[in-house]
Amino acid sequence: MTAQIKILIEGYARKTGDEEFASSTTVLIKEKGVNIIVDPGMDRKKLQDALLKERMEPNNINYVILTHYHLDHTLLAGIFENAQIIDFEGIYSWDGKIKNHGGMVPGTDVKIIKTPGHDPFHCVVLTKTNNWGSVVIAADVFWWQDDEEQKTDEESLMTHEDPYMKNKEELTESRKKILGIADYIIPGHGKMFKIKK
Ligand SMILES: [Zn+2]
Repeated sequence: MTAQIKILIEGYARKTGDEEFASSTTVLIKEKGVNIIVDPGMDRKKLQDALLKERMEPNNINYVILTHYHLDHTLLAGIFENAQIIDFEGIYSWDGKIKNHGGMVPGTDVKIIKTPGHDPFHCVVLTKTNNWGSVVIAADVFWWQDDEEQKTDEESLMTHEDPYMKNKEELTESRKKILGIADYIIPGHGKMFKIKK
């Protein structure tokens, strides 16, 4: 069974004078009647407009996956009142219940893979699609500022500098892992790109 994916918001990160503007890429996954949001971000207007365009309401979402806890990825999670929240290892319900997900979104073939480095509690989402093959929603394992050129040859991807990185060895390992499994990558901030094989 393949998933349908839609990039609702292309993530951005820019500085204007003393002010910083950032919100993550937000992706909608539909598979087997299950609706999943990956990283709701912190741009409320953009998220509401994008959902409206898909004829979706926050209440139609079953799961919200948070790739890590940075607020530019997570701030809007609470608007999805019928959803359960998923992080790198758990599923959280509004009644306080926490359980382990074992690397899968329940009722789907969508995989959650631990990818520390940018943050110790970081994960990515792997989906199989008809149009693009294996798509990895990579969040901040790969991301660019708006004024940076997005170079996607392997060498550039492996060495691209992440100013917020917590652990270099782990990040390198996570990048290698993703490049090995993805046909396409959706970065946390920047444009979706194809992996050259
Ligand atoms: Zn980010």
